Amino acid sequence: MERLWSPWRSEYIETLRSPDEECVFCDIANRENEDEKVFVVQRRKFNYVVMNIYPYNNGHMLVVPYDHVDNITQLEDEVLNESMFLLKSLTTVLAGIFKPQGFNLGLNLGEAAGAGIHEHLHFHIVPRWKGDSNFMPVLGKTKVISTDLKLGYEKIREQINRLFPV
Ligand SMILES: [Zn+2]
Repeated sequence: MERLWSPWRSEYIETLRSPDEECVFCDIANRENEDEKVFVVQRRKFNYVVMNIYPYNNGHMLVVPYDHVDNITQLEDEVLNESMFLLKSLTTVLAGIFKPQGFNLGLNLGEAAGAGIHEHLHFHIVPRWKGDSNFMPVLGKTKVISTDLKLGYEKIREQINRLFPV
């Protein structure tokens, strides 16, 4: 179980947090004209998709409902339906770009469950390769936004909007 859940403990996005904004996910939601700066690949009606800039693996993405809630029971079904649609879309997009051997999809509810930013619910999708658990956590702690990450962002953004346009 440790291996399954550990990817989602390597969060992050601290550099995006502006001093006067309490919640990083609300902050990103509000920065509508800065998608490239905040690594958003798509905004839909109820959710947006953002790259985890301190990823567990290449292509580690987050689906974030606009609602600032900490429990899945507080979200309307139409919001969750769209979250699932986006996770499904990302599975197609990431499979095409990164050719992983598997995926972890899911969420952590509450700090005790390993949520890095527990006050604003978000879903993870993490491409996985056999044997990746040994060396990738090291990469996950790297505080530099690499060229690879930016290239990955451009590719994911292009593909999701081509295959699953808003
Ligand atoms: Zn929030």
